[in-house]
Amino acid sequence: MRQSGFATTSAPIPAQDSTRFVHKSVNMKDLADLHIHTTASDGAWTPTQVVQAAADKGLGAIAITDHDTIDGLSEALEAGRRAGVIVVPGLEISAIHGAKTEVHVLGYFFDHQYAELVEQLHILKNSRESRGRKIVEQLNEAGVNITFERVSELAQGGAIGRPHVARALCEIGAVNSIDAAFGRWLQEGAPGYVPRYKISPNDAVRLILNAGGAAVCAHPGKQVGDEILVEMIDQGMCGVEARHPDHGPVTTRYYEKFAAKRALIATGGSDSHCIQGGKRTDIGSVTVSVDVVDQLKEAAAQRRK
Ligand SMILES: [Zn+2]
Ligand SMILES: [Zn+2]
Repeated sequence: MRQSGFATTSAPIPAQDSTRFVHKSVNMKDLADLHIHTTASDGAWTPTQVVQAAADKGLGAIAITDHDTIDGLSEALEAGRRAGVIVVPGLEISAIHGAKTEVHVLGYFFDHQYAELVEQLHILKNSRESRGRKIVEQLNEAGVNITFERVSELAQGGAIGRPHVARALCEIGAVNSIDAAFGRWLQEGAPGYVPRYKISPNDAVRLILNAGGAAVCAHPGKQVGDEILVEMIDQGMCGVEARHPDHGPVTTRYYEKFAAKRALIATGGSDSHCIQGGKRTDIGSVTVSVDVVDQLKEAAAQRRK
């Protein structure tokens, strides 16, 4: 019964260049951009600025989907009420399938006070720092005198990773190269090895469902194989993000059909960070019909029953 809402608008088949998505004959009020980042994660604009930009464009709805955090939602929802834009509470969880296939899972319409969700997001957000601390602790126990403070300095405010620990090890002369630091101290089986905290795509889907939300695989065309999608569908995932700036027309079409065949919701959004790595993706440059918002809301409500 569920299907993509695209058929109800005359929005064009998306092209590679996402700035050409907007079609003159479509009323912007009928469109929704369901994938946007803010300063709560790695976006350049605050939630209020994002909502204002959506209002200026006349968009009917947007979803705020920050990486592993829901910290921007309250501000966005409030700004949406003021600006008359529907703001869908969302989030994008970074999951890992197997050893290293990154799978991003979008959640919509969940209860953002649900304790398990809040706790898991807290763990995800802090996992890099706590892993760094644990590595240093283990190295100290093994008799290597580096400090977490020095490792943080080497990360220069960015996410702390093993390369920073390796550099600290080089500095004190424990090893004479980064490679040697990994080999002697940091790789699996070495004294300073601490596994990275991982959440699987299936767990991410279940987490969103437990919180009463609708789960959707983000930009599957980037690296997610169909087998992984099928597993996630078995867990209760209800949609795939067919429209995304990294999906060309062929990929978009593929996932629209994939969704239609399996009664999934085909969603879409700009994945706007405003500016990322010098590249600008505008809010509203990739959209779907606002009907998709209702479909996601309905899917979440069905799950809660
Ligand atoms: Zn993503
Ligand atoms: Zn994203």
